[in-house]
Amino acid sequence: MTPSNEAMQAQIRQHPAAGATAPSAVIEAVETMLVDLPTIRPHKLSMTTMSGQTLMLVRVRCSDGTVGVGEGTTIGGLAYGAESPEGMKLAIDTYFAPQMLGADANRVPTLMAHLGKGIRDNRFAKCAVETALFDALGHRTGLPVSELLGGRLRDRLPVAWTLASGDTGRDIEEAQQMLQGRRHQIFKLKIGRRSVREDVAHVAAVKKALGAHASVRVDVNMAWTELQAQRGLAGLVDAGCELVEQPVASVDALARLKGRFPIAVMADESLTGPATAFALARAAGADVFAIKTEQSGGLQAAQQVAAIADAAQIELYGGTMLEGAVGTIASAHAFATFRDLQWGTELFGPLLLTEEILAQPLDYSDFHLTIPKTAGLGIQLDEDRVRHFRRDRPRVSVGPAAPRAA
Ligand SMILES: [Mg+2]
Repeated sequence: MTPSNEAMQAQIRQHPAAGATAPSAVIEAVETMLVDLPTIRPHKLSMTTMSGQTLMLVRVRCSDGTVGVGEGTTIGGLAYGAESPEGMKLAIDTYFAPQMLGADANRVPTLMAHLGKGIRDNRFAKCAVETALFDALGHRTGLPVSELLGGRLRDRLPVAWTLASGDTGRDIEEAQQMLQGRRHQIFKLKIGRRSVREDVAHVAAVKKALGAHASVRVDVNMAWTELQAQRGLAGLVDAGCELVEQPVASVDALARLKGRFPIAVMADESLTGPATAFALARAAGADVFAIKTEQSGGLQAAQQVAAIADAAQIELYGGTMLEGAVGTIASAHAFATFRDLQWGTELFGPLLLTEEILAQPLDYSDFHLTIPKTAGLGIQLDEDRVRHFRRDRPRVSVGPAAPRAA
């Protein structure tokens, strides 16, 4: 006998999940700030050398008392792309915030779609805002951001370390320390500043010193011509390198290089969201996608990129814009929902910084980053430290000491 409609309705009403909607809340305030933090060493990339990182933090306060935080960063100011932390702050203060105030804080995709209509591009700023909205929603519902994004498939992510001191001996020493401390066993070498021959020799020396225990990969950041890449990839295969990230700028050239050598070709700079992911997949331009939440235009957009990769049988790697703790853990929540993550992640951003801005640092141990299971992003800012490193903190300028009277 099938239960009557009424009986079924009664059962549904009694179910603990029934009617479990988030309490109503609207956005009451949007606050942004720039936080400047030094790096543990100069970070040398083909296009710039970084000695510090600027985090643009955005805080969204809602009428029910919940607060969400998001982060936007870039690599080397404007060296990597069109957005800068200062530009994100300006865009959010001037254009995002007026459209957000008073909006339903529970309808994150609706609000992001609305912002997407009125604001072109600005993918990094959108990612920061979306992160803050999901964090607040998480606090309101008691759910981690990964669950709000559809559900996590893993609680820990492998984390690669980037060797970019510019010195072979120092890179080897750094990698050996990471291996001994069981922090990283995947190493990405930043190359492209020197000649192809010197770069390949550098990679070969690092791989030889680290041996079979370590995975060695390289990122050329588009610095090679196609001809240089042909020579470079052949040398990298011999050096024992297993993956090359964005050796050239052009998608067509990437497609011509892919499959020509027994080394995985990964797209990074060419990948700026779902539309470029689709174009890359159509051109068969990559074996692997380095998905970055900011580059993709947000956490949900990153998931769309992953879906395109899945459909095209392209493998996945979780990339970083060298985000601090907030952007890093937001990315981790998104990457945890990917069906496959064959190449792990490079979510080491906070480890490159000398200063902690969380009350409880992220858990990096046993070669992995653990994703919190508590509400929202599962982190808490150390407000005193954030205040201390804010660019607009009160300053007293002091001139040189006056000469003492004889
Ligand atoms: Mg890269």
